[in-house]
Amino acid sequence: MGFAEGNQIFALLSHLERIGLSMEKNISRRKLFLLGGGAATAASVFSPRNLFGIDELAAKAEMRPSKMKIRAVQSARIEDEYVCNLIKVTTDSGLYGIGEARCKILVAHQIETFRKLVIGEDPLRVDFLTRKMLAASTHPSRVEIGVVAGIETALWDLAGKILNTPTYNLLGGACRDKIPVYHDLAPAETPKTTEPALWAACAKEAKKAGFSAMKFDIYRGGGDVREWVRILQAIRTEVGPEVQLGAEFHWRLNSEKTDQFIAMTEDLDLWFIEDPMSYGENLAHYQRLTAAGKVPIVALEQMQTVKSFHEMLEKRMCTIIEPDAQYCGGLLSLKRIADLGELYGQDILCHNMSSPVGTYAQAHACATIPNFVALENACAENVILHKGSLYHNGTLVLNDKPGFGIELNEEYCRKHISKGSTYFDT
Ligand SMILES: [Mg+2]
Repeated sequence: MGFAEGNQIFALLSHLERIGLSMEKNISRRKLFLLGGGAATAASVFSPRNLFGIDELAAKAEMRPSKMKIRAVQSARIEDEYVCNLIKVTTDSGLYGIGEARCKILVAHQIETFRKLVIGEDPLRVDFLTRKMLAASTHPSRVEIGVVAGIETALWDLAGKILNTPTYNLLGGACRDKIPVYHDLAPAETPKTTEPALWAACAKEAKKAGFSAMKFDIYRGGGDVREWVRILQAIRTEVGPEVQLGAEFHWRLNSEKTDQFIAMTEDLDLWFIEDPMSYGENLAHYQRLTAAGKVPIVALEQMQTVKSFHEMLEKRMCTIIEPDAQYCGGLLSLKRIADLGELYGQDILCHNMSSPVGTYAQAHACATIPNFVALENACAENVILHKGSLYHNGTLVLNDKPGFGIELNEEYCRKHISKGSTYFDT
């Protein structure tokens, strides 16, 4: 029963109640609505014209796209500046969706396991199929969850194409059509040096490219806390006060160095510091830093389950959570984590280390998340067809094409296919 038809039934029931012809006083209007078929029959009797006759509903059911079945699940491992595993889910109609699995190894074996669970199924049952795949093992590994996320995201692209609408419309509808992106100045682009001027030059380039939010893996250049502070001072001087600057540590500091770094950067107005220490033995210290609020603490990029995010949110161990759809099982899991974050008054950054396929997939979820702040930029941009930069004024702009609205650069992908992989041939 469609929304319009439901409204017509409500209108009819209201009219019947007003004139004292309620069909059964002991049945609530809500129950009558839920009865659907019975209400539709009653409505067809009372309606001036047959708005929702059974035959008409049956005819509509025959046309429903959920008649499609999943025919194939295939992968292609692309290897260039970065490795990505693309996943293709194809229906018996020939329509397909593309997703990305966040794992560097060949995933053919894992694909085989999950393929059996989804072949012949209705591709629109995305949540059902994702739960079915995750339930296949008692403790899914990181790679398995990554592959499930790859299939899940491909299903969302496919669902958008089946229903002829951008995926964000299927995830609750967009809060925004421009997705703020923060530029991670990765080691490949950053000189392995502690010379502040060279780091400042990188930041200048990023600002010139339109980014107003960026983070730096400053420890990768070597040196110690004092040198990292000098680097950040040079960057702040270069880009000015309006650019958001984050510092990423990948769990490399101890509690003393973390305190020292925070104390020495108080006047730099840092956007956040990310994962300064390992979690286990430093949990209480994370909680103290979060409660003190001198600088926002970002963490949890590799958490894999909604439950584990919930446990950490309960412990209030960071200021901003940083889920990644490819680590946590897909777009719906990301949304559930974001909803939990909202309950705890937290914003979310989205971690991202994927090609534009995974990046756009995640961006469609980000579009629908009210407490979303920014998404990390993509790797291996040539995997999809695009003109010029993917980004405009530091944002990823979503279009109104069906699914994720992107198209693979087949020529590039075939040219960079990994040894042992094929271009969706198996
Ligand atoms: Mg990180």
